[in-house]
Amino acid sequence: MLSPREDVRTLPSYRPPLAGRDGLRLDFNENTVGCSPRVLECMRRLGPEQLAKYPEREPVEAAVADMLGIPAPELLLTNGVDEAIHLLCETYLEPGDEALIVVPTYSMYRIYAMAAGAQVISVPAGKDFKFPTDDVCNRITPRTRLIAIANPNNPTGRVAPAEDLRRISRSAPDAAVLVDEAYFEFYGQSMLGVSNQFPNLFVARTFSKAYGLAGLRIGALIGDAEQMRALRRVSSPYNVNSVALACLPEALRDQSYIQGYVNEVRESRARLERALEASGIQFWQSQANFVLARVGASSSFVEQMRGRGVLVRDRSGDHACEGCVRITLGPRAHADRLLIALQETLIELDLVQGASRP
Ligand code: PMP
Repeated sequence: MLSPREDVRTLPSYRPPLAGRDGLRLDFNENTVGCSPRVLECMRRLGPEQLAKYPEREPVEAAVADMLGIPAPELLLTNGVDEAIHLLCETYLEPGDEALIVVPTYSMYRIYAMAAGAQVISVPAGKDFKFPTDDVCNRITPRTRLIAIANPNNPTGRVAPAEDLRRISRSAPDAAVLVDEAYFEFYGQSMLGVSNQFPNLFVARTFSKAYGLAGLRIGALIGDAEQMRALRRVSSPYNVNSVALACLPEALRDQSYIQGYVNEVRESRARLERALEASGIQFWQSQANFVLARVGASSSFVEQMRGRGVLVRDRSGDHACEGCVRITLGPRAHADRLLIALQETLIELDLVQGASRP
């Protein structure tokens, strides 16, 4: 009888709660208003021939590389960062190899590494989710072939200093070190400038978050040109669809849209952090477009917020995240709605420190 490989049979399934997402979407770290209108205009101009033809990735790769100021052979466009993670696992992990991750973090590192037959070594973050650089370095062995780090991290919003990421890359020359910069635009600091000093260091970027193109599935992986040649061999030549390729250059050209969106999100983040602080709710200072907060009764909190038309994500199942929810930020008007629903929910659940029920 046909049976999947052992590693696949035992793979935990990751099923994000995508159903019934009516309301203000503060649950998936997406852009909450949508992409630049110029991108939609570009999409409307597409004709049947563009859809009939197989997609041509290279000219768009050249445009993205140009924007990032790197040579085109160092960049591969991917079907979101998820595909970049998958390709790294397929390219570098043999069954029995070790993949290092710092928990809590983005789920797909574990899943793709396990699917490749690797042993996943989870290094717990330090107090207040501080990046545990010493612990990561101490867990590197000759079998370590992948180290995946989200920077800023999801779901904590915490960051690892560039010097620590350099130290890890230096300490694990036989491992692919992925610095996943999915939330780069909200943070502003990157390892791109130093990636060419380390042939084992890869940087991933996505157009799913600040750019508002999660549905198009497009991201980029950047690394040493020779390593990228190997990754290209593993990838489908048609991994990124024609609509995404046709629209991305226009999305890149409209940087004022991105900057405006990012500025508003940062402002909203500060407003949410102030509101949580005032209510005595524990949270962690974030460099991304979301904030992790310990509300205690996380599932009632999520339900109460949903009842008020605001979707947020229960992260209480993640390592060291008991009672935590993750709240995505959007622009000003969305923060207004969020903060009203938040206040009402905190009062309803008796979560405001020192407050009494009306
Ligand atoms: N990396 C991180 C850290 C993420 O949080 C996410 C999305 N939740 C992704 C990658 C996936 O990005 P993409 O949509 O480009 O596959």
